[in-house]
Amino acid sequence: MENVHRSQSRPWISAKLSVKEFRDKWCHTLSSSKCDTKEKFKMTDSEYSALEEECGLLAMKCPAQNYIEISKDFTIPEGVDLETLRLQKADVKKRLEDITYASVVYAYSKYYNYPPHKIAGFEKDKSDNPYKQIQEPEVLLNVQVFRPEKKGTSGYMSNQSRVPNFHIDQEFMVLGCQYLTELRDKIECISDKAIPGDFSECPKLTPEITCKDLYKSGFFYFNGVFYNDMRHPDCRDYSKTIISWAESANRGIGPFKKTLMERSKFIDLEIQLGYPYLYVHQGNCEHLIVFSDLQYYTHHHCSNRLAYPVHVALRPKKRILCMICHIHTAEWVVFDNKRLPENPFYFCKQCFISFNYDENDQKIGNFRAYHHIDRSSIV
Ligand SMILES: [Zn+2]
Ligand SMILES: [Zn+2]
Repeated sequence: MENVHRSQSRPWISAKLSVKEFRDKWCHTLSSSKCDTKEKFKMTDSEYSALEEECGLLAMKCPAQNYIEISKDFTIPEGVDLETLRLQKADVKKRLEDITYASVVYAYSKYYNYPPHKIAGFEKDKSDNPYKQIQEPEVLLNVQVFRPEKKGTSGYMSNQSRVPNFHIDQEFMVLGCQYLTELRDKIECISDKAIPGDFSECPKLTPEITCKDLYKSGFFYFNGVFYNDMRHPDCRDYSKTIISWAESANRGIGPFKKTLMERSKFIDLEIQLGYPYLYVHQGNCEHLIVFSDLQYYTHHHCSNRLAYPVHVALRPKKRILCMICHIHTAEWVVFDNKRLPENPFYFCKQCFISFNYDENDQKIGNFRAYHHIDRSSIV
């Protein structure tokens, strides 16, 4: 793939690195620096621990660390004569009184829901959630999942020109010891949640099946290897066609390998930070995947193994509004209806029924109608 995507000319893409080597090198550096310090200053273990407590990173943490970001729960102490605090106080008050103002502020707040790796309720002894301590040494990878190529429900292709869509849709922190399938199960996409079929003849029928139930196959592509999810007997090997296509002529790509997603761990990967890799599911729903960071696990990260992959909160997604009332989120999308000025046309539940069906629940005119799952409904 290097012939197609030349990473050397792109300064934000790192050199190839092995996740396992990165972990082992850090582990070695940290343990040798501890030994060196103890030896140099002739310290005992308890003296070293006391020094670490005094001078370590935790000593730099202020008591209100977790509350200093913009938060509804932030209370400003009385009797402090600071202009910044006076303005902050007025702003918090305005947010509590004016919901519209509050939603705008939180939508554009860079540090809202931050830091992402401190998840409330998942720390030891603080909740009833199941807890399992992370085994050290460990590494953390930041994984960015991009929005797929623009497509509507039911295979409808957008009229818009094919412009690359480089928006980060979701971001996760995964542990080196985790299987790739653990990340796959956490990625939410509207193609999985879509409800297949034209429901215009039976709009009140409750759909029971989603595309995820029907089409379970998917793969990750990292560094020349296809990782196929074959956990279910219905799963297909998507990579087979691609590999044989690449081998069928001198295309300048490959050779490719393939393996099972459910047997591969992040620690065994060889990656380049910043390099665009791929996640494909639902046949042709293609998401770019980028590893944006690789770090050594320390005690300021969430220590619960069961909380990972941790979802890193991004800015809330914009919803598609009903094109009639402009108030409610769209729940239906209608195609080929001559009574409508736009094709497709988005409706909320109420407007959909009142515009397209008569008092006897009979369809008015000819059209196709599909359930619309809005992007804002997923994490
Ligand atoms: Zn998708
Ligand atoms: Zn409406």
